[in-house]
Amino acid sequence: MTTNAARETRVTGTLPLRTGREFLADLRRRKPSIVVDGEIISDPVSHPAFKQGAYAVAALYDYAAAPENRAVMTFKSPKDGAPVLRAYQIPKTHADLRDKRIASTKWAEMTFGLMGRTPDHVAGFFCGFAAKPSVFAAGGDQFARNVVAFYEHLRDTHAYVTYAIVPPQIDRSKPANLQEDPTLYAGVVKETDAGIYISGAQQLATGAVYSDYIHLSCIHPLRPGEENYAVSLAVPTDAEGVRLYSRRAFPLGATDAAEYPLTSRFDETDSMVVFDNVFVPWEHVFAYRNLEVCRDQWWKTPAHLYGNLQAQARYTTKLRFLLGLAKRMNEMTGNDATPPVQVMMGELASYASIVEGMLNSQETLATTDEEGVLWPSKTALYSVMALQSEINPKMIDVVRELTGAAMITLPSSFKDFDNPDTAKDVERFYKSGKADARSRVALMRLAWDFIGTEFGNRHQQYEKFYGGASFLVKMNMFRSFDFKGAGELVDKALNLPPLAD
Ligand SMILES: Cc1cc2nc3c(=O)[nH]c(=O)nc-3n(C[C@H](O)[C@H](O)[C@H](O)COP(=O)(O)OP(=O)(O)OC[C@H]3O[C@@H](n4cnc5c(N)ncnc54)[C@H](O)[C@@H]3O)c2cc1C
Repeated sequence: MTTNAARETRVTGTLPLRTGREFLADLRRRKPSIVVDGEIISDPVSHPAFKQGAYAVAALYDYAAAPENRAVMTFKSPKDGAPVLRAYQIPKTHADLRDKRIASTKWAEMTFGLMGRTPDHVAGFFCGFAAKPSVFAAGGDQFARNVVAFYEHLRDTHAYVTYAIVPPQIDRSKPANLQEDPTLYAGVVKETDAGIYISGAQQLATGAVYSDYIHLSCIHPLRPGEENYAVSLAVPTDAEGVRLYSRRAFPLGATDAAEYPLTSRFDETDSMVVFDNVFVPWEHVFAYRNLEVCRDQWWKTPAHLYGNLQAQARYTTKLRFLLGLAKRMNEMTGNDATPPVQVMMGELASYASIVEGMLNSQETLATTDEEGVLWPSKTALYSVMALQSEINPKMIDVVRELTGAAMITLPSSFKDFDNPDTAKDVERFYKSGKADARSRVALMRLAWDFIGTEFGNRHQQYEKFYGGASFLVKMNMFRSFDFKGAGELVDKALNLPPLAD
């Protein structure tokens, strides 16, 4: 049950900036129900599956709270002028959007782009919702008031929200209401004067074990008959009846942080969220049994654009890290000056620069609508997201190609350096022309953890699907592209004036 009372109730003024220590203390006070390896646990901070991830999030809060980072990481709450996370700023100008991007990049650099659903991701969605309350008002004015009030509450308590907005893959050939049990997919099962009750499951809430709230909704198109699943609401992660089924926790297999420097620190976990008759008070409901509002919240507000600006700032950072790793590995193997290797590095750098260029274009091509709301460029965002599922594996493959066996031909562990019988060989044969054996092995283990481990492979799945399957993102691109302008060029070519005599 919720114990984090200060953050749970409406705040009348803004709380002081949350530190990492406070974040961890809040996480400890809460008692979420998390399933891992046949156990139900309630203290992720103490469990080896989640502990280091919790500390990685705490470090983000500490960074934002540090006085020297305030200007970059915070803005003044419109409520009382107190500093609040930049992640909750509703951008009004291009400069605001730039500031949001820089704040997200600073956080992304702290995890090398390896934690996707940090507190700035879903915060962006709520900024977008609050920027366009009229979309929610289409279901009733109270829903517009609810979403704005909840956004302000998140902002002024520096809260961390994650989301589960995709139905489980139980049987996609049938709509939710025609499944063998209509409570398989998360939906409304009861309504009272005080609120509603939700039962069923929704995938796949990355970071949920660390978050204060889970946003439950559905981004897949819903059809008449599926009204019970057409909701948008928030529940505290520790609400009674919420259970998080975490996928395999990779840190449990990362026996030594030196061997698995990334797995051991940055596993944000992904959870199926199961709701068992969970009560949601009306004030936390933003769309209720309304197919249009449930759809329009994503596409008629800038929520999807603001949230994914963070995703692209993170991805850009991660690609910079990948380029750095590849370059350093080439230096270690002595191939760095080889022209064909430089050509391949140039190819990698081209992809990374395109992604970064499109991130910047989201800002520079942003437009303001008739209500004064700033919309980052859809085409700049969706073109990268649509191709990310192709670019990313290609880039990883180029790095694999470049490194040959370098990430595999390594001692069984760093212990081989400590045994006097083996140390001499290990020091001698695992060194590089540029570095001693320990440094070379450390770099190659880092690269393998990024690319080849279970953690590294999960990341490749993440980059393919974090923003939806690519056929859906390509449809977004289809809807956003200026085909009219393109067609006008064709008309012009079909109506060329006669050739000059
Ligand atoms: C690591 C990871 C983290 C994630 N984090 C989150 C999160 O934090 N919150 C959240 O809500 N979700 C999250 N997701 C879930 C993500 O949103 C979904 O995986 C994504 O929307 C794709 O949906 P799906 O997995 O159900 O795939 P499906 O929709 O089942 O698609 C799988 C494949 O089936 C084929 N296919 C299916 N239908 C069609 C069709 N109509 N036309 C053409 N081809 C089709 C395509 O090849 C497609 O790639 C995450 C996913 C991953 C892998």
